[in-house]
Amino acid sequence: MITTRRNIFHNKVLLFGSIFCVLVLIIVSFSVLVVHELNLAKDSKWSYHEQDKWPGSCKTGKSQSPIPLCDRSSYPYQSDALVFQNGSVENFQITNNGHTVVMDFENPKPQLSGGGLTCKFTLRNLHFHWPSEHVINGKRYPLESHLIFISEKFSTLKDAIAVPFAVTVLATLYEESYNITHNHFQIINKAIEEVSVAPGKPFATFKSLNVFDFLPEDSETFFQYTGSLTTPNCTENINWIVFRHTSSITSEELGTLTNIHSKRNERVEFNNRLLQNINQRTISLRNTLTSNDNINVISNPIFCQGFGQMILRHVNVTRISFLQNSNFVFFWFAPVNYSA
Ligand SMILES: [Zn+2]
Repeated sequence: MITTRRNIFHNKVLLFGSIFCVLVLIIVSFSVLVVHELNLAKDSKWSYHEQDKWPGSCKTGKSQSPIPLCDRSSYPYQSDALVFQNGSVENFQITNNGHTVVMDFENPKPQLSGGGLTCKFTLRNLHFHWPSEHVINGKRYPLESHLIFISEKFSTLKDAIAVPFAVTVLATLYEESYNITHNHFQIINKAIEEVSVAPGKPFATFKSLNVFDFLPEDSETFFQYTGSLTTPNCTENINWIVFRHTSSITSEELGTLTNIHSKRNERVEFNNRLLQNINQRTISLRNTLTSNDNINVISNPIFCQGFGQMILRHVNVTRISFLQNSNFVFFWFAPVNYSA
């Protein structure tokens, strides 16, 4: 009898002990997972070699970047041309942050407007990816530059990222050329050659550079879509403008630009995020060849801070189609004397 009671007691202890251990294990595992995810989001912890471990929206988002872009599957996009102002920047620093070569601008003058944007945007950051993150008509290029602009209503990139459509990224893809050097890449490369390839400290401070030199000659033709940042936490509702035509960089300039080391002291061989699903998104293509037609399609009006308005004056809307993802397409007729 005593033995049986003892056994029952012993079994109960074992049972509760096991449950307790399992609970502790679950809590510890969860905590480790959360801490791991948070750490990954910090600048130094994530890696391009482990993109499946990137946290937050990188895993769960449905409007992620980069994506493949294609002429044929894009909607014609009617807008005025982009306007670039005050491209010259002075006394800026070039840094290797362990992932890429980056320039941060604290008191920026370069401004972006037009192109369907409903307010002015100011430049905050310029950096590079190799090979390109976006793919155009099935082709990946050796380099892509990102100029990150924020709505002039915000003073920091951090504040703007928290608000839908307050960030616009201009993306340029580059082809390798062999002869003609490029002054803007020579300036950056000189900085890289002068100091260590190790990350952390700024390479050098420079007197002057025109940031719009990084854009292609034809900046009037571009894809536009709503996506995300391409590094953790992959925040969404970022307005992307990807130029349809490429710019160029020499093989030598490319070699020097990409000769940086990560915080693990390994050469950064590549720093492009893998292509993401388009899902239900609409991709627009502004093409100067079609923009003068009388019948046009407007899709994805680019709002500023998410509450901008499209101004449709002197046009006759003939049909409005609502797409699955709540975007809408206006089919409209513009009188001959129409001006936006
Ligand atoms: Zn980027």
